[in-house]
Amino acid sequence: MDFLDESVDVVQGVGPKKKESLEKMGIRSLGDLLYHFPRSYEDRRTIKTLSLVEEGDKVSISLSIIPLKKKGRYGKVKGFTQVIGEDSTGRILLTFFNQPYLHKRLKEGMRVVTFGEIKRGPRGLEMINPDFYDAEEEIKEKILPIYPLGNALTQKDFRRFIFWVLNELKERENSDLQYDPLPRQVIEKNKLWYWAPALWGVHYPREEKELRVAKYRLVYEEFFHLMVTLGYAKGRVKEEEGYAYKVFHKSEEFLDRLPFSLTNHQKKVIQEVFRDLKKKTPMNRIIQGDVGSGKTAVAMAALAATVENGYQAGFMVPTEVLAKQHYLTLTKMMNSLNCNVGLLIGSMRPKEKKEIKAALLSGEIDLLIGTHALITEDVKFKNLAFVITDEQHRFGVRQRKSLGGKGKNPHTLVMSATPIPRTLALILYGDLEVSTIEGLPPGRKSISTRLVESGNRKPVYEEIKKSLDQGRQTYVICPLIEESETMDLNAAVSLYGELTENLLKDYKIGLLHGKMTYNEKDRVMKDFQENRLNVLVSTTVIEVGVDVPNATVMVIENSERFGLAQLHQLRGRIGRGEHASTCYLIHDGKNERSLERLKMMEESQDGFKIAEKDLELRGPGEFFGLRQHGVYSLKIGNFIRHRKILKKAQEDVKEVLKEDPKLAHPQNLSLRTFIEARLRNYGG
Ligand code: ADP
Ligand code: MG
Repeated sequence: MDFLDESVDVVQGVGPKKKESLEKMGIRSLGDLLYHFPRSYEDRRTIKTLSLVEEGDKVSISLSIIPLKKKGRYGKVKGFTQVIGEDSTGRILLTFFNQPYLHKRLKEGMRVVTFGEIKRGPRGLEMINPDFYDAEEEIKEKILPIYPLGNALTQKDFRRFIFWVLNELKERENSDLQYDPLPRQVIEKNKLWYWAPALWGVHYPREEKELRVAKYRLVYEEFFHLMVTLGYAKGRVKEEEGYAYKVFHKSEEFLDRLPFSLTNHQKKVIQEVFRDLKKKTPMNRIIQGDVGSGKTAVAMAALAATVENGYQAGFMVPTEVLAKQHYLTLTKMMNSLNCNVGLLIGSMRPKEKKEIKAALLSGEIDLLIGTHALITEDVKFKNLAFVITDEQHRFGVRQRKSLGGKGKNPHTLVMSATPIPRTLALILYGDLEVSTIEGLPPGRKSISTRLVESGNRKPVYEEIKKSLDQGRQTYVICPLIEESETMDLNAAVSLYGELTENLLKDYKIGLLHGKMTYNEKDRVMKDFQENRLNVLVSTTVIEVGVDVPNATVMVIENSERFGLAQLHQLRGRIGRGEHASTCYLIHDGKNERSLERLKMMEESQDGFKIAEKDLELRGPGEFFGLRQHGVYSLKIGNFIRHRKILKKAQEDVKEVLKEDPKLAHPQNLSLRTFIEARLRNYGG
């Protein structure tokens, strides 16, 4: 409906200034205003008596105005009016600023209902600038919205603007009665409220039940739109023409040469990937698997196939350390397969970068691995047919797509080491086919995890010495300080100092942090990998991907500051070799809730279970990655609280798309228009 796209200019009371303020909050159109939902409500319906109110209460009171004794003191003073109100239980002083006409209006004996915040002044109870109504009747249905504010816009502004739009909607309804962004059959099946009444009900509910039903409808709508957009996008990809691979000898050769035999899950996933690669339609797949489940081998088999079929591949990872590590493995494994691997990371010298880019464009490089540097504009492939992004949650949807955009409908493979609860995976990766590697390769020693209060840190480091003396290695992870990289660095440096000078002073200790240059990081990592360092003190830069099987101990300082999924990820760095491993979670023991979260780490080593718990305890807002996914920011729905509605919407979307995959039926047309607009906005 065009009405929704009209600019907020047309709203009564919105001038250039307010328009700009609204824009800063992302509110540009009438639709944006309508979907700016209240964060709570102010219920004015119940009248309280003065003897029962307390300071700070926001209440309605029914009063009669009583005469003021001393004129001049209480009467009409410059700029404000004061009167006293009385009910059967007490009195209250009412002060009105900037409303001189009230002085005449508020006559002795008059009955009014006032609503405001109770204050306690030198003369007892007070209300300043309360709203008032002439009769109790008037507040019978008064539940007012309380909106999230910003940029000097007031509650009154939002109430006025949105009320205006709602009324306008009523006017237009007559001419456009049919409009509803949900298909009629879905509304009827679920007995949902129609769109306009639901909007009224959520902004200006007259009773609780109305609010509940209205909100249900809008939450459902939000989930439905999210899922249908993803599902529709997925269907659209299927129609594009990409590269059908013909031969897989090199992949088989590569797999045969691995020093281990693949698990059944790995085999299954490789088959799923190969099946996709043989088709002309581009693959769009994610491999989910716990840390250490062996996703890389699967990726490499696909890379080998790409090269063998005469195409190029791009492999994007989130950190330089990881890029380098994959680069080394790949060169080792691939060179003998006659495949030329290149590395491109931000910290390389301009001359090196230039050479790499030239070799890529000429087709000399078959496989380019790197960080975000890969999606910079001047990186051009000759014939890119396959892109992989590792540790997907670190990248937004846009970045994934922009690497893919460097080829013509290349196959896309996403690898996520962050287990995502099933409900969430469907949403986050709704436009992808999902492959899951369950479990870990055989022979892994389990990791024992211990919670340690910070008061008992020292004995922990004594214990660690024993394992160091046996030749094992240890990671020490510094407290996470999100606000500031400098503070992060300080924490790392001081911890490093404490260990080298005191707690572990007889051992060789390295330090790794985000402010180091790539070459410095590289040297430290290499020293650790080749066992020239016994201990590696690090900020979370090692979080992803690093593989040092001889490291069997990990200490995480201030572990209460990390999310569970992140702790699980970190812990996955140990337990990779033949020796038993231990992870110490040092915590300050102060907060019950964070202790409960950490206990989960002791109990479980199942990434999916941990992720589920993390999501439950911290909520989706805090859950890693979600914030980056602009397309998934919800206005009214909540993945956890409304999971039942989510499930229903999911099922309905499936049905709708099954019957009408292209949304071409007349009853789905407005839905399709809506989705297309949304996909354009998000670069889909
Ligand atoms: P992730 O899934 O976290 O990326 P990796 O692919 O890095 O895990 O694999 C973790 C480790 O397990 C690597 O050292 C890898 O060589 C090894 N690995 C992978 N698959 C198997 C297997 N089937 N049997 C034994 N070891 C394996
Ligand atoms: Mg990996």
